[in-house]
Amino acid sequence: MSTFTSLNPASGDTIASFPIMDERSVHTVVEDAREAGGWWAQLGYAERKARLLKWRTIIVSRMDELAELMHREGGKPLDDALLEITLTVEHIDWAAKHAARVLGRKAVSPGLLLSNHGASVRRVPYGVIGVIGPWNYPLFTPMGSIAYALAAGNAVVFKPSEFTPAVGQWITESFGEVVPERPVLQLITGFGDTGAALCASGVDKLAFTGSSTTGQKVMATCAQSLTPVLVECGGKDVMIVDHDADIEAAAQAAVWGGMANAGQTCIGTERVYAHAKVYDEVLGRISAIARDLSAGSGPDASYGPMTMPSQLDVIRRHVDDALTRGGTATVGGRESIKDPYVEPVVLSGVPEDSAAVQEETFGPVLIVNKVADIDEAIERANATPYGLAAAVFSRARGEEIVARLRCGMASINSVISFAGIPALPFGGVGASGFGRIHGEDGLREFARTQSVAKLRIPIPLVLTSFARP
Ligand code: NAD
Repeated sequence: MSTFTSLNPASGDTIASFPIMDERSVHTVVEDAREAGGWWAQLGYAERKARLLKWRTIIVSRMDELAELMHREGGKPLDDALLEITLTVEHIDWAAKHAARVLGRKAVSPGLLLSNHGASVRRVPYGVIGVIGPWNYPLFTPMGSIAYALAAGNAVVFKPSEFTPAVGQWITESFGEVVPERPVLQLITGFGDTGAALCASGVDKLAFTGSSTTGQKVMATCAQSLTPVLVECGGKDVMIVDHDADIEAAAQAAVWGGMANAGQTCIGTERVYAHAKVYDEVLGRISAIARDLSAGSGPDASYGPMTMPSQLDVIRRHVDDALTRGGTATVGGRESIKDPYVEPVVLSGVPEDSAAVQEETFGPVLIVNKVADIDEAIERANATPYGLAAAVFSRARGEEIVARLRCGMASINSVISFAGIPALPFGGVGASGFGRIHGEDGLREFARTQSVAKLRIPIPLVLTSFARP
């Protein structure tokens, strides 16, 4: 079998080699998973919870080792990797502790017509879940599917991004330490073709996280076998700053939301719409804060390199287009885009129909545009194909503004905070995909519903009711 290597994006050093798995080998893995899934399902909620909590303990005890690997393979600063691990273990914990309550059998009222029946809803694991993940949060993102699918009683076949297979391997191997009996969580490695083979392998559900373009391909492949899909894609997240907002808090949040992880965050802030009354102050503070950041791989760097070299072309095209069409750079500009580091860029007055406003940039580039009022801010916020998340800074109108936004998640007077609350479902609308990971919805995504009506008293109530309406 041919192989590929994963590289350190900052130094170009090789991390490790992995097989490029073909259709046949993916099929074999899925077959093994099917048998393992049956065994895992019959262990029951209590035993699965115990194993998952043990896994959590292992991850916490080896946090530094994992963070170092994430830093080397993905490029993010160690502190960011540690934060990602902390958020992830909260999800393992939540999924393990809540699966029985959310998915356990529930009695419902049979109603008047069939009152001689008992009625209940069962949630049954699907069997084998295929999980395809991206590289930007190589632990947190796929684990939003993996942990919840495992807690629901499924086996999982996981294909990490070709940019972060070593982190993927760490995930599956550490799980193997707490579940050594059967291959309940397995790794497959390779590029898009391996992912496509997983979609076509007969898995019972496919949970995809990645770009919208790949999401369309995943859906097309899964459509051939009517395999259900959960599709979490990109975003063009917005922040709205009202005239009564805490400007300093908003500016700090915008820069962190836009530049952390070098802007390579699906729920990263890419656009800020500031009310005309406070626009100059917002732009001034955002620019001043961003100017102090620097890209690099040392301990003092604010964020790391671009993990995926091809993203540099997208960033260059967006910045070029914005500046050519009348936008202004208050921080950085074309010269900020180097390989593999991109220094912070803040743009203002960018036309709404430009690529920089309409497409996902996925780099440390923040657009700050002026709006006359909140109605205009909402109209612009909702005018891209994406609808993942939003942040609103307003003392008086936060809830009201959020209710009018076309997005799956929102933070009021903070940014990205919803992602740190395990009970909150995570996902978007439009080109950002559909379905939800995390929380109760996230558990239900990985169990199919079975409705059961059981005759208790054999009286033909139905017939008499139909005869005399
Ligand atoms: P990508 O779409 O290029 O790749 C994602 C995964 O899909 C990889 O594992 C890749 O090998 C696989 N793949 C590629 N072609 C495939 C095919 N034809 N069939 C099946 N699988 C295939 O995305 P990426 O560059 O790894 O990640 C960045 C993107 O992910 C951004 O758009 C970002 O916004 C998005 N993202 C979304 C979320 C979310 O929760 N909504 C979270 C993180 C990242």
